[in-house]
Amino acid sequence: MKNIIVCTKIVPKSENIIFDPTTKRLDRSKAENQINETDKNAIETALRLREENGGKVILLSMGPPFFESYLKLGMAMGADDAILLSDRNFGGADTFPTALVLSTAIRKIGDYDLILAGEESSDAGLGQLPGQIAELLDLPQILFASSVNVEEDKVRAKRTIKGGHETVEARMPAVISVEMHANQPRFPDFKRKKTVDTEHHLTVWGSNDLELAEATTGLKGSFTFVRGLVDINPPQRKRIYIRGDSKEVSSKLVELMREK
Ligand SMILES: Cc1cc2nc3c(=O)[nH]c(=O)nc-3n(C[C@H](O)[C@H](O)[C@H](O)COP(=O)(O)OP(=O)(O)OC[C@H]3O[C@@H](n4cnc5c(N)ncnc54)[C@H](O)[C@@H]3O)c2cc1C
Repeated sequence: MKNIIVCTKIVPKSENIIFDPTTKRLDRSKAENQINETDKNAIETALRLREENGGKVILLSMGPPFFESYLKLGMAMGADDAILLSDRNFGGADTFPTALVLSTAIRKIGDYDLILAGEESSDAGLGQLPGQIAELLDLPQILFASSVNVEEDKVRAKRTIKGGHETVEARMPAVISVEMHANQPRFPDFKRKKTVDTEHHLTVWGSNDLELAEATTGLKGSFTFVRGLVDINPPQRKRIYIRGDSKEVSSKLVELMREK
């Protein structure tokens, strides 16, 4: 098996997501971040496929420099290498320039059999990236896979459908998006984390390395623009405490329920 490339997005924890109403962008500066949950499922799938078939697992991410520490966590899970695509020109991208940057980098890495991704990100959550990458690289795609297996030059994936599942086969190389909860991602290995922290030198590619013109990436290369944002504060739950022994509490509870 050749390279297995896993598209790995670093996202703010859902309780930390803040939209800047002026720029209409995600404000990541105050957020605690993590590897996107379904991308961990994709990494786990890649590691298992490597254990069964050999090859190399490479994490690929587009984002700002601070993503490095999270990619190192992914490497501590067992990935062999990580590449960060980072450039000021890449900022403010909608899905198309994101897919363009990722697919150009995938071409540059080369020698791949599988490109894995999560089914969707937990911040923007469009679920379009894997399909767009497949289109840009002219590769077959299987989306929302619950399990993935490889046999010679073919990949077989199960997809959950209403009332059961279907098995879909494609020739490799192929793009597969992995369903949320498809597996139990392993924890980063603490010893490996130490080695990665001290010995791994992250490869960072910008627009020059990928030979991408400024007009095709980031905000300039985007076809869609966020024009409005509405912040909805969820209503606070009303809490009523009932005190007393169990008889008093239950009769008070019944009384309150009758009132409502
Ligand atoms: C008009 C517009 C403007 C935007 N501006 C900003 C902005 O300024 N700042 C900002 O943070 N976001 C911005 N976004 C969101 C950003 O475009 C998306 O995060 C990005 O396009 C990926 O889409 P998604 O997160 O919905 O990916 P999905 O399609 O839901 O992701 C599916 C999978 O693709 C892979 N993937 C997705 N993104 C990446 C990545 N960057 N690197 C590696 N793998 C990845 C992961 O495996 C992920 O699980 C903007 C979106 C739009 C539409």
